Amino acid sequence: IHMTTAVIGAGIAGLSAARALAASGEPVTLFDKGRGPGGRMSTRRAETPLGELRWDHGAQFFTARSSGFQSVIVALRDAGALAAWHPGLADIRRRAAGWTVGVRPSDPSRETVFVGTPSMNAVIKALAADQHVHWGRRVTGITMTGRQKVLIFEDGSQEGPYDTVVSALPAEQAAALLQEISPELALEAGQAVTAPCWAVMLAYDAAIPVSWDGANVSGGALSWMARNSSKPGRGDVESWVLHASPDWSREHVGLPPDAVIDILAGEFREMTGAGAPVFAAAHRWLYAKVDRAARSPFGWDDAKRIATIGDWRSGPRVEAAWNSGESFAAFLADVSEQLEM
Ligand code: FAD
Repeated sequence: IHMTTAVIGAGIAGLSAARALAASGEPVTLFDKGRGPGGRMSTRRAETPLGELRWDHGAQFFTARSSGFQSVIVALRDAGALAAWHPGLADIRRRAAGWTVGVRPSDPSRETVFVGTPSMNAVIKALAADQHVHWGRRVTGITMTGRQKVLIFEDGSQEGPYDTVVSALPAEQAAALLQEISPELALEAGQAVTAPCWAVMLAYDAAIPVSWDGANVSGGALSWMARNSSKPGRGDVESWVLHASPDWSREHVGLPPDAVIDILAGEFREMTGAGAPVFAAAHRWLYAKVDRAARSPFGWDDAKRIATIGDWRSGPRVEAAWNSGESFAAFLADVSEQLEM
């Protein structure tokens, strides 16, 4: 008899766990509050005077260092859902005299990084296509019935029962959801801290005359800027994504979007000489990158059969989130094997 599993959150971590569990024959169902695939690998779409445009406004690119993730990268690349990105990079610092730009020399031995194609969320879309994912379903509670668990949704509906429940949410959201059913897991999630991030998306009717496509920035409000249109398959319209630093985003978390655009696009203009954008929008990620991680790839409440996975377990990166889901699935396979012996 197979154990049934529900995964709450169909981001890269939830999909990683679901894929590995399903491969070992476990029936797995995923629920995500989002209207469509993405999580923090989302894509923002907008109608602009230059046509419909898309920006990767969350995760910018990702690495593939572990062999497990590399094999997924190859399969997704063959399916057209991702490609390598080879940006020219710069490091920009604010000094007393103004901004100094250090363009990094091109280096063939630099680690290859990847992006979804034609936009970041294609990765999540492709992984979700093979799983049973229910979008637009926000879980608000979990209750026990005997040893099994029932999920309760925002609209009052219920699903279940399930033998195992996996929380694949950002730490703060996991802490809130698990507080009653598993205080220990909730406490651990409550100790991780995730920084917010203000993102600004820009479009221009002419190329910005800089030789680089991505820059790490320090000394001001921004921490990262990328020429979104330099990524493969993004089309010809010059588009950029700006990310504010965690400190600036924390301090200005309540600022109106228009004020955020003025400040961040203003700093961008100072650095690049860009003219006025044809289109600008801002997005606030309340939970962007964890800055105090739990330092183990997953959490497990053995009595309740509830797990926590996600990037906040081991590091603020797509690959870390993937590995978290995979490590948990391997652990659960071992536990199930021992039960059967
Ligand atoms: P998520 O992607 O957040 O998935 C959680 C899912 O749970 C979401 O889909 C959400 O809709 C759903 N959910 C939440 N609450 C509920 C609920 N109550 N019920 C049902 N569903 C729910 N990483 C990199 O490797 N490189 C980068 O360049 C990079 N840049 C980043 C820039 C920004 C601005 C941000 C925000 C993140 C960035 N990251 C980057 C981090 C990376 O995006 C994350 O580490 C990774 O995507 C986390 O995956 P996850 O599955 O753990 O969480």
